[in-house]
Amino acid sequence: MANQNNNLLNQINPYHSAVETLKDVADLIGLSSDALEFLQYPQKVLKVAIPVKMDDGSIKVFEGFRSQHNNARGPYKGGIRFHPQVSEDEVKALSMWMTWKCAVVNIPLGGGKGGIIVDPSKLSESELERLSRGYIQAIHKNIGPDIDIPAPDVYTNAKIMSWMMDEYEKLNQNFYNRGVITGKPVSLGGSLGRDTATADGAYYVFEALAKKLQLKADATIAVQGFGNAGSIFANIAYQKGYKVVAVSDSRSMAFSARGLDIPELIEHKKIHGRVDTFKESEDQIENKEITSLKVDVLVLAALENSITHENVENVQADIIVELANGPISPDADEYLYKKGVKIIPDILANAGGVTVSYLEQVQNASNYYWKAEEVKSKLKEIMIEAFDNCWETAQEYEAGLRYGAYIVAINRVVNAMKDRGWI
Ligand code: GLU
Repeated sequence: MANQNNNLLNQINPYHSAVETLKDVADLIGLSSDALEFLQYPQKVLKVAIPVKMDDGSIKVFEGFRSQHNNARGPYKGGIRFHPQVSEDEVKALSMWMTWKCAVVNIPLGGGKGGIIVDPSKLSESELERLSRGYIQAIHKNIGPDIDIPAPDVYTNAKIMSWMMDEYEKLNQNFYNRGVITGKPVSLGGSLGRDTATADGAYYVFEALAKKLQLKADATIAVQGFGNAGSIFANIAYQKGYKVVAVSDSRSMAFSARGLDIPELIEHKKIHGRVDTFKESEDQIENKEITSLKVDVLVLAALENSITHENVENVQADIIVELANGPISPDADEYLYKKGVKIIPDILANAGGVTVSYLEQVQNASNYYWKAEEVKSKLKEIMIEAFDNCWETAQEYEAGLRYGAYIVAINRVVNAMKDRGWI
């Protein structure tokens, strides 16, 4: 069983889950106790207080973190999350998952992650800008194109990345340092295709799995989470002819057994801020029930722990795609594996985002920019190769794709650590 922490929400602690999965895989592959000891801990965790002058003239202090898990294979890499539920342990877990993610897709980067405890919807745009710049002022000595490269994550976006990059350059005598942050707008050195990269990458690996399992062309899909990744994935699946029967956001769900018109639903969400009021929605079902629907494919694109021991027995899908990080707790994962559910794990399914972040950095370094098709075809090649590696490794160990992916990743990281003489 995963460990429980004692926070108010009594949620499963994601860092404990991350370590638990690492230990399980270490057992399976006979990893040395030195390597396991090393990999359990982030190499550095920064905790900063960010004072922000609010629009009413008062000062409010926000707590922020940056966890740098492992840089054996390259500079730390990972997004920055703005969310009220951010915690030090969540950021630590996410940074470890970034280490595995970059290793699975074999890009020369390590794992890092940042976060600020804040509900960004409660800040004005200028307060948000001061917070974003304040965060960079607090951590700038610990980041850089060859040190640690932040990017967007939950509730952060290209605009926030621009402020952060600009602040970093100002703090460094205005040297152009575009590669310090990825997920920037195209006007400031962002890559074409970065905005859709997470969903595109997930779709490539989903397609590869669908082929292996001979999934029917009109399979039904439910998507939990209708943000950047979830809505774009739903749209690609819809365009490809799959029947997206349910979509949920943080407060509501749209459901239609006949399949939802996803482009229209995206418009609806933009205007009304919710999905249940969409005209095609047939039933009023509570949004958290989406994980229990009888569908062929369940896409988890919300936050951690959407499936735990509490609701895992209700899951009816045959395939799960983890577009979010850590959406299934380790005990629930074991239950689903035994039941025969095929899961494309987060560290593979959502690695398209960081892969195009890497391609963005490559373009920044050479100051030469590629067409969208070039970015997409590179992304596809990387994702398919990663899928094949994970699939073959899973077969070899008679395990699921999650363990296949972890084995590929851990071996790569451990080899780099050995070559450096760390272990
Ligand atoms: N936040 C994204 C992730 O969790 C992207 C990270 C990046 O591009 O560095 O993978």
